Amino acid sequence: MRKSISKKVRYEVFKRDSFKCQHCGKSAPDIILVVEQIKNISENGDNNILDLVASCRNCLQKMGGNVLDDNSFLAKQQKEIAKLRERIAELKMMTEWKSGLSETDVIDLIKIDIFWSNFFPEFSFGEPEHIIHLKELINKFGRESVLEAMKTSADKYFKYEKDEMTADSVIIAYSKIGGICTINKKLKDNPDIKDLYYIRGILRNKLKNGYYDEVLAFQLLQKAHNKGISIEILKQFVIIVNSWSMFKGGIDYLIEEQSKT
Ligand SMILES: [Zn+2]
Repeated sequence: MRKSISKKVRYEVFKRDSFKCQHCGKSAPDIILVVEQIKNISENGDNNILDLVASCRNCLQKMGGNVLDDNSFLAKQQKEIAKLRERIAELKMMTEWKSGLSETDVIDLIKIDIFWSNFFPEFSFGEPEHIIHLKELINKFGRESVLEAMKTSADKYFKYEKDEMTADSVIIAYSKIGGICTINKKLKDNPDIKDLYYIRGILRNKLKNGYYDEVLAFQLLQKAHNKGISIEILKQFVIIVNSWSMFKGGIDYLIEEQSKT
C-alpha cells in the first residue's frame, strides 16, 4: 500500500526540479504540478525522493504516468479550479478589482494562489484579502519577482514537524514575502549593494569593540561609491580602519577628494 506524500517531500521534489514539469519544461503556477513516481515502490514501500519527479498533469495524462497517491492534493487543486470562474465573477464585483484587471490577470492570480496555498495554508484560495495582497505585490514587483520571493521565503523560513510545515513557520514565511521582494529589487537596481553590505560587515567586525554607527557607515560607503570610489578601494580602506573616527575621517576625505576630480 502506498504512503501518501508529505508536504515536505512534495516541496523538496518541486524545489529540486525548479518547480518545472520534467517532461515539457513548463513551470508552476502556469501548469498544475504533481509528483510523479518514476519507479514502482517495491522493496520497502518508502517514497524515496530520487524516485519522484515533478510533472504536470497534462504530461502525465498523455504518457499514462504514475501519479503518486496524492488524493488530497489533487482533489483540492481540481476542486479549486472548478471554482475558478465563480470566484472571478465574485472578485470582479469587489471595488478593488474594477480598475484595469483583465480576466487573464485574475486567472493568473488565482493560479498562483492555488499553487502556493499548498505550501502556505494561510495564503489560501478563497480569501479575497490574500488575493488582493498578492495583486498589490505583483503590481509593485512583477509576477516573477513575487514567485521568486515565495520560493526564497519558503526555503528560508519553513520549519518542519513530522514532515509538515509548522503553522508558525508558514505565517512567518508568508509575512516575509514582501520584504524579500523589496531587498531583491534593491539588489537588482544596484548590483553593488551586496558588496557594500559585505564591506560594512568587515567594518562592523573591525569596530565591534568600540563605537560604531551601522546606518551612517552604510550611508557613507554608499555615498563614496556613488561618487565613483570603487568597491575594491572601499574594501582596502575598511581593512586598515581600526576606529570609528578613523573610518569617518578617512571616508569623508575620500569623498571630498573624489568630488574635486
Ligand atoms: Zn508537462
